[in-house]
This record gives sequence, structure tokens and C-alpha cells, in this order.
Amino acid sequence: MKIIAIGRNYAEHAKELNNPVPDVPVIFLKPDTALLKDNKPFYHPDFSEDIHHELEVVLKISKEGRHISQKFAAGYYEEIALGIDFTARDIQSRHKEKGLPWELAKAFDNSAPVSNFVPKSQFADIYKLNFHLDVNGQSRQAGNTGDLLFSFEYIIAFVSKYFTLKKGDLIFTGTPAGVAKVNVGDRLEGYLENQKLIDFYVK
Ligand code: MG
Repeated sequence: MKIIAIGRNYAEHAKELNNPVPDVPVIFLKPDTALLKDNKPFYHPDFSEDIHHELEVVLKISKEGRHISQKFAAGYYEEIALGIDFTARDIQSRHKEKGLPWELAKAFDNSAPVSNFVPKSQFADIYKLNFHLDVNGQSRQAGNTGDLLFSFEYIIAFVSKYFTLKKGDLIFTGTPAGVAKVNVGDRLEGYLENQKLIDFYVK
């Protein structure tokens, strides 16, 4: 499986990092070795002094497809989850300055914790979902999928022009404002509507 991630998909987050609001989606990949499941602890790597949390809604692709039209894209995911797109911001900043790719900042081992998946049918409206992240009991990030610049269906249509989507592939759909550094000992708790799906420690 592969993990596809969308950058700068909430305007307030693009602004907080002084990035332009994009007119086409910003896409990057993480390998399967980035996946961290079952709320296992995240061990802070020693190559970065500034690992940021980015709370995101994650789609799980339910069947293979390529060149999927936006009209049919909703049929390609049945379950959603919350994930953290851990980002080594110091490494990313250095690479951005030089116009270099982001993999060392984004695709390292365990950089993609993902919660259990829940059926999208469980929610009245997945296009108006509230989600939020608390760190050590303090509210850090809060988003609503109604504020996505590129919708779930647009993203599936867009990426499937370039990559065949396979069953089990994951799509991180972008983070709202409020990203910040994590420290050893932090407890991260993520909620989709009122359901706590993420609860793990940084070690
Ligand atoms: Mg992200």
C-alpha cells in the first residue's frame, strides 16, 4: 500500500507557514514503513529538533481505480480515520529554501500514525466534519472538512490521473491551522466529531 498526502489544503494552515494558497493540490507520498497503528507511541527521531503534528482526516481506498472521475470518486472510499502527518519542519524548511523534495521531512519511519477506521456512513455529513487535536489536554488544532480547498472527491480524481489507486491505499487530506512542535512526553488525543480515535504518547 502507499500513502498519498495533500499539502496546504486548508487556507489558514497555508497562511500560518507563509505559503501561498495553491491552485492545484500539493501532493507527496509516504512509504508503508511510515505507518504507525493502534495508538502505539511515536518515538521522537534524533535527526530533527522540530517535529510538528499535523492532524488530518484520512481516506482508505476501497477499490482499485485510475482516471477516476470526480462524479464517481465517492464510491472509492467507504471508511475514514484520523492521522498525524508528522513533519520534520526544520528539515522541510531547509529543503524548501533550496527547492528540494520533502521526503526526509515527511516520509520517515512512523511519520504517519493512523487511527482505527470508521465507516463514513456513520456520519450525517462527511463534508462538514469537525475534528480536533489536544496535546496534553490543551486544544491545539481544530478543523472542519467544509473548509477543505480541494474536496475528498477532487483529490481522488486528481491523484488517480497520476497514480493507480489500490485497495488499502491511504490519502491524508491536509491539516488545518495550529501545527506545532511535539516534545517527548506529550500526549496526543485526536477527535473526529466527538469520537476519540487518536490517543498516544511521544516517547
Ligand atoms: Mg500534512
